[in-house]
Parts: sequence; C-alpha cells; structure tokens
Amino acid sequence: MKQNLLPEQLSYNSAQKQLEEAAAIIKLDPAAYELLRRPLRELHITIPVKMDNGSTKIFEGFRVQHNDARGPNKGGIRFHPEETIDTVRALASWMTWKTAVMDIPLGGGKGWVICNPKTMSTAELERLSRAYIRQLGSFIGPEKDIPAPDVYTTPQIMGWMADEYSVLQGKNAFGVITGKPLALGGSAGRGDATARGGIYCVREAAGTLGLNLSGARAAIQGYGNVGSYTHKLAVELLGMKVIAVSDSKGFIYNPDGFLYESLMAYKKKTGSVTGFPGSASISDKELLELDVTVIFPAALDSVITAANAPDIRAKIIAELANGPTTPEADTILYNKGVYIIPDLLCNAGGVTVSYFEMVQNSYGYYWEEEQVLQRLEKKMKTAFLAVQQTSQTYNVHNRLAAYIVAIKRVAEAMKLRGWY
Ligand code: GLU
Repeated sequence: MKQNLLPEQLSYNSAQKQLEEAAAIIKLDPAAYELLRRPLRELHITIPVKMDNGSTKIFEGFRVQHNDARGPNKGGIRFHPEETIDTVRALASWMTWKTAVMDIPLGGGKGWVICNPKTMSTAELERLSRAYIRQLGSFIGPEKDIPAPDVYTTPQIMGWMADEYSVLQGKNAFGVITGKPLALGGSAGRGDATARGGIYCVREAAGTLGLNLSGARAAIQGYGNVGSYTHKLAVELLGMKVIAVSDSKGFIYNPDGFLYESLMAYKKKTGSVTGFPGSASISDKELLELDVTVIFPAALDSVITAANAPDIRAKIIAELANGPTTPEADTILYNKGVYIIPDLLCNAGGVTVSYFEMVQNSYGYYWEEEQVLQRLEKKMKTAFLAVQQTSQTYNVHNRLAAYIVAIKRVAEAMKLRGWY
C-alpha cells in the first residue's frame, strides 16, 4: 500500500482531476461525466497458490473494466506488491482514454495481482498466472476484455495465461490476450512497440519545437522492457545520447552516454544498472535536474510532482509510464514551457500493436514486422496531430488536449449506444 504518499499524489486523484477539468472545458453532459468517473465493472478475487515449499499463499487480485462503449476492454495486468484498487481504477480509465486517443476500437481495462514476482520462482509465477485466469473465467474474452503485459508481467506470463484460458474454453483462444510470444500468436513488433511509439512522438515534438535531436542528451527513469528499448531506439532512430538511467535499485550517470548493448548485458548479469563500470551514481533528484533535452519517465506513476517539477530542465518530457506526472506538476511544467507528451499518447504504441495482434489472431494471418511498424508510425502521427490541433483549438496543454480528444470520442459512442 502506498501509505506514505500524500493523497494528491495518488494516481486515482490525478485521473479524476484530469477528467473533471477536460469535461468542464467541453461542457460534457452531466450523465456522461458521471458514467466516465467510475468503472462500469470490477472483479475482486482471492487466489490461493501452492508455493514451492508446500505452503499455500493467498493472493489478492483485481480486474477493472472502465468503459467499453467503443469496443472490448483492453489493458495490461500488473504484478506488483504495492497497490490499492484505486490505482487499478485510474489505470483502467487511462486505457479507455488511450485507446480513444489512438482511435482504435477498444475500451479500457486493467488487472493487478498484489505480489512480488522478484521473490517468486518460475513455477510459482506460472501457478499464480494460471490461477488468476481461472478466477477471472468468463469476465474476460476476445470480445469482452483482452489483457496484456504491464509492469513485471512478460510474454511468457501471457503465454501461460493464453494457454489456461484456452484450456477453460476447450479450444485455442489466443485472441484473449496480447503481448504473447511470437510462437503463440504474438505480433511482430510488439516487444518494443511502447518505446517505439514514444520515440515517434519525440520526433514529432522535436519537429514542432524546432529542436535538433542528433547528439542531444536524454535521461531514462526505469530500465525494464520499455526503458531499455527506449535507450536502444533513442540512439538508433534519433541519434540521441542517453546520459542517465535508473532502475528500482538506483540511478547512474555518464556524460559521454551509455552504450545500449553493454548496459543491457550488464543488467542481465547483475540484475540492475547500478554499479555499471564508468558510471557515477546520482540521486533521483539529480536525474530529474539534469540538463537534458528529453526525460523519459518509464517506470511508475506520480514521480514528477509539485516538489520536483520546478527543478526540471528538460525541454521535453516523454511519458512512457502511466501517470508519471501529477496535475500540480503539469501546471508548473506548462508554465515553464516544458513540452509534455502525455502518457495517453506517448506510451500508446504498446496497446496499438496489441490491437494489431488481436486483428491478426482473429483472422489467423500474420503480418511482417515492416507492415506492423509502418501502421504503428501512421497511427502515432495521426494521434499526435489530433492532440496538437486540439491543444491549439482550446488553448490547453497537451494532456488536457488528449483528454478532450478521448472524452469526445467515448462520449459520442455512449450517446450513439443510447447510454445517456
Ligand atoms: N500495459 C500497456 C499499457 O498500459 C499495454 C496494454 C495493452 O497492450 O493492452 O498501455
């Protein structure tokens, strides 16, 4: 439980405030607003799992379906020790907005199991993953709610879950989940899709701001799937220099920039980026205060707050995490002229390629990587433009603009369905 956080730092409060602000600007119908303030459905489950030492451990899990007016609910499953149902609700609502900003025909959902996968064996993780799916049962399905990976869940976990669901159905039903391994109906390009979508956005933002990214410095907070691929692609596609990175164990810095291959190899060997040869250790405060062109928050929510926003020197914040910036920090950064690429847009490459994966699963025909990347790039550019134009029309910052784009689309679908 995040008991040490102030209430205003909690992502649920942020999600509610962001919705409220955008709804007021577009004068959203009060009934539509009430509907969107809360999830349509949620399931709370208790999951017994046999541990390797013979004991049985009881885990707590959730699946929240925020809104499926535009199509089946979609969103990841997180395995993490610290959580409350309110964060899952916030994350589920962000998926509704994200799929709407991208204009893909899906709604928003999120799942969670309170556990620490770092202390569990592979066999225990497999039993937990399968038991979670058994408990969800018919609450999910390719036409209802399609989970995917999120923090600390992997393609292998998606593979076990797809298998368990297929066993329950008595047939292969790979379309129930995305982010699967390639050999089990996964899509080419899904592995780095979140990072890639964010990199495309940074390129668009730099074009808008007239910034040259070649040789420009970047800092990445979080070095899991998304953070590490961001490092690779920022160098490969934008020619940037990544001078600071962090993970859950600490922060490292090298003014000459890190080599992706060496840092990845080191992290694989030691389990962390900390202590990487040739790097200096810095604090989280120092990482945010670095003189860089882009900061990529790629870890957890509510890390950029009113307390540290005034010190941020970056020109662009590319939000690869969900909810990294609180509304108070948003205002401070906007007034300072920092260009935020909001999470609803910046990290939407993942769910976009998940959608491509669903499409491929449903017609059993798989695309080449090149085709996936082309389609992703087109989707990201279109969404970027929609947010940018809305920000100019309403004279609001990008996050509010993304909310406005999304809320209008979801409200229109609810209206046409006769929900209000
Ligand atoms: N967990 C990712 C997100 O928050 C991906 C969700 C998906 O692919 O459905 O966007």
